[in-house]
Amino acid sequence: MQSDARGKTIRGTLIHTPVLGEVSVLDDALVTVGNDGNIKQVTGKGSPSWNPIFQKAEQDGNLRHLGNGQYLLPGLVDLHVHAPQWPQLGKALHLPLNDWLRKYTFPLEAKYEDLDFARCSYRSLVDNLLANGTTTAAYFGTIHVEATKLLADIVHEKGQRAVIGKVAMDNADQCPDFYRDASTTAGLDGSRTFIDYVSALGNDMDRRVFAAVTPRFIPSCTDQLLAELGKMAAEYDCHVQTHCSESDWEHAYVLERHGMKDTDSLDRFGLLTDKTILAHSILIDDDDMTTIRQRQSGIAHCPLSNLYFSHAVFPARKALDAGLKVGLGTDISGGPSPSIFHNCQQAINVSRALEDGVDPCRAATARGTPDSRINFREAFWMATTGGAKVLGLKTGRFESGYVFDAMVVDTGAPDSNLVCWEEMDTPEDILQKIVNNADRHNITNVWVQGNLVK
Ligand SMILES: [Zn+2]
Repeated sequence: MQSDARGKTIRGTLIHTPVLGEVSVLDDALVTVGNDGNIKQVTGKGSPSWNPIFQKAEQDGNLRHLGNGQYLLPGLVDLHVHAPQWPQLGKALHLPLNDWLRKYTFPLEAKYEDLDFARCSYRSLVDNLLANGTTTAAYFGTIHVEATKLLADIVHEKGQRAVIGKVAMDNADQCPDFYRDASTTAGLDGSRTFIDYVSALGNDMDRRVFAAVTPRFIPSCTDQLLAELGKMAAEYDCHVQTHCSESDWEHAYVLERHGMKDTDSLDRFGLLTDKTILAHSILIDDDDMTTIRQRQSGIAHCPLSNLYFSHAVFPARKALDAGLKVGLGTDISGGPSPSIFHNCQQAINVSRALEDGVDPCRAATARGTPDSRINFREAFWMATTGGAKVLGLKTGRFESGYVFDAMVVDTGAPDSNLVCWEEMDTPEDILQKIVNNADRHNITNVWVQGNLVK
């Protein structure tokens, strides 16, 4: 089905998770996509309007069918990507966070002053994420305004939906001379220039790229920069993305410098809004959860990265039960996989490890934290509906008025590890198998706003 979906009706089985913990399956349904790329109508087989819609679409030549073993799923949302770190994916994961930043990551990010290098790297990254079904991504760029504009151009040209920020980091105590904003003013001016640039990309009817103020994390920013970025976020009503209580070192640093936790400090600078994406948030306590929920900020749970750099497990079950907005992030390249499916699997795995415990020297009853597990339903919800809620975007599910960001998952694709048995597997079983075993080989088509992007 190698064509745009705008103005078309797609016939097939839909699987999505609009409600946390529930799988919704529409067998042999019709999805009617408007010429604007938004979903006009979703019609189940039992509906009286199914036949008239089917016949009209067929007569007009606008009907498209999914093949045997193919399922229509919402596109995936990746809430935390460091775009410039793409070339080091999978490398240097043996180091602690601070060494990883200083020896590998900052020198790599500094290279993006070279726009030819930036173009090559960013094109490769965006192509890869689209191939993995990531229709929406939240990207940290670098401190360079021109290279981050180029990232926005590439995302725009390739048709992905994205939130992008020029990274702000001006603290000479924590950032190397070769890689930090030249001054607080330069960091602020660059952030403003970038936001203005993104605002001019595309019109409001078909807006897919959004700007974010992006203080890297508290250690790398002066208080003045944090305060001014908070004001800028309010002035533009734009997204905010940063890291929150990621690791023991970072958490302790903020406690020592500010005498308070990350959540409280970000809040006093106006950086906790209903458009804020907080990466990790591993070491948040009950009071932090209350604050984050009251501000309607969201969390990017990055389970693969956390095992390498946080040395702890985010309590996803507890956060979801507390009503927080939570989605998933790859944290490229703190996490070694660009696949949100891999991060779904890991989110399930680490929640089970948290619940059961991992130290065999302890008695089973003293080993874990009860009621911590999530399952494939919640993982897929975070990867789609949950991520969309964090960003405040109408994507992640099939519903009238939502954008048509979707993918075809072919369970019978060659060279894949998916094993589906139509006579024995219900569609819910198939979603579980997809979440646990699908990869880019199974993703045969991807659309963003009804435009074919893979
Ligand atoms: Zn990160």
